[in-house]
This record gives sequence, structure tokens and C-alpha cells, in this order.
Amino acid sequence: MKIKRSLLEMLLIISKENHPHEIVALLTGRKGVAEELIILPFEGGRSSAIIHMEMLPLGMKIIGTFHSHPSPNPYPSSADLDMFSRYGKYHIIVAYPYTMDSWRCFDRAGREVRAVVVEK
Ligand SMILES: [Zn+2]
Repeated sequence: MKIKRSLLEMLLIISKENHPHEIVALLTGRKGVAEELIILPFEGGRSSAIIHMEMLPLGMKIIGTFHSHPSPNPYPSSADLDMFSRYGKYHIIVAYPYTMDSWRCFDRAGREVRAVVVEK
């Protein structure tokens, strides 16, 4: 998958700002490039989040999800895998300390995939 650098930087910042809490969002974009995020209400379980797909701007698609881990472990839990199977194809986990080296991208099955950072 591809992700815009400005979006990736934003993910690192909001992960940091929410530490020690976890934050969850949907990644949206065009033509397979993640460009923007939609932050989900996250209380007591992410499966309860209601997503209004009709509110997405025209041409924007759900690419996948993003969430933070307040621990240094960047790998998905079983609850994460459950969420991965619901929304989109690609899933980013940003782990503590939320740097360019502490994030990973996974597919729906939780296999690590390469994410390419694009400038625009
Ligand atoms: Zn997780």
C-alpha cells in the first residue's frame, strides 16, 4: 500500500498526543493511496463504531485502519485481527514511541506488508 507522508506524520503526532490511550481511525484515500483519516469514536469496543460510508467525499474509499499501541509492540492482537477483517485492506499500527521506525502495516490476515511513503 501507499501512504502520504503528511498523513503518516499526522498518525505519529496523534498517537503521541493520545498516549497512554489508544487511538483508532479509518484511512481513506484515492487510487490506493492513503491520504486522510477519519477518527472513530472509540469507547469500550471498536466493533461498536458506526461508520457512515455515505459521508465520505466522492471518490474517497476506505483503505483500511490505523491505531496506536501505547506499548512498543507493533503487532496485531486478536481483537485487532477482528477489526482488520471488517474494514479495508491495509492496517497500520503505530507503536510507542511513535517514531518513523515504530509503525508497521498489515493485511487483513495480519501479515506484515510493505507500505511505501509517498510525498504527495
Ligand atoms: Zn492493536
